[in-house]
Amino acid sequence: MRIPMTEYLIIDLDTERWTCRVCSHDLGDARGNYKEGTLVYDRDPREIHQSILDPQKYEFTFAPDPTFCRILEFYCPGCGTQLETEYVPPGHPPTVDMLWDIDSLREQWTKRGTNPETVINYGPGEEAVADFSPALGSYNSLSPSAPHSHS
Ligand SMILES: [Zn+2]
Repeated sequence: MRIPMTEYLIIDLDTERWTCRVCSHDLGDARGNYKEGTLVYDRDPREIHQSILDPQKYEFTFAPDPTFCRILEFYCPGCGTQLETEYVPPGHPPTVDMLWDIDSLREQWTKRGTNPETVINYGPGEEAVADFSPALGSYNSLSPSAPHSHS
């Protein structure tokens, strides 16, 4: 069973591996950080957020200082799809943005009895869904007392 976790990442519960949703490239142990299986582009943030003011005239130009901030872009080695981006201090290792309880994930999807790839559509495309609450039912709620949005 393959669970879409983001627009471009899947967890394959049969193999317990992170997988690229575009090309099915193996990105590593699903109980670990998928970023370890990606290509990383450590970018100068000024390439993305260019100066508003002339850097020859002003010390502060509204462009991020590359000695304080880097942009890490994570790409699939199989197809080159950009999977994630994050802003970190220079030299900071990639962050861990998702760690999943694989056993619980498997149990919840088995109880639902639906195909996750049919129910969850992060996109890309016109059929992308933003609210999965109806499809996920009561298993979507971590705490029964947590407030719900039904917008
Ligand atoms: Zn890929």
